[in-house]
Amino acid sequence: MREKLQKFMIGRYGADELGRALNITVLICFVISLFSALLPPLSVFYWIGILLFIVQIYRMFSRNTARRYQENQKFRDLRYRASRKRSGFRTRWAQRSIYRFYKCPGCRQRVRVPRGHGKICITCPKCKTEFVKKS
Ligand SMILES: [Zn+2]
Repeated sequence: MREKLQKFMIGRYGADELGRALNITVLICFVISLFSALLPPLSVFYWIGILLFIVQIYRMFSRNTARRYQENQKFRDLRYRASRKRSGFRTRWAQRSIYRFYKCPGCRQRVRVPRGHGKICITCPKCKTEFVKKS
């Protein structure tokens, strides 16, 4: 039986990070559908869970490994960007009483200026655009 399964999985994609994330999402969807007011077969989350489960099974048994690998890379890239955004937000939140944060109108570079200096002219360190803001 084990041998048969191994033979079956040869050349197929298997599990990856995106697959694990899908599994967790499927689980969350099913739990939500259990606790939702509607009966589980009628709940939207139930059907989203079923759909994602089918996608996950399809990805695992897919023979197009290059395409699956690309999807996983895209997922990892998105997750990395989200975590960077979160950590940036956390830093700004922690420093909010000492600094003000602005985005440069020229290049959208984030600029940090000390609070409590009234109206000041800020020069972007990246593109040297000048703009006036309250500090
Ligand atoms: Zn700039």
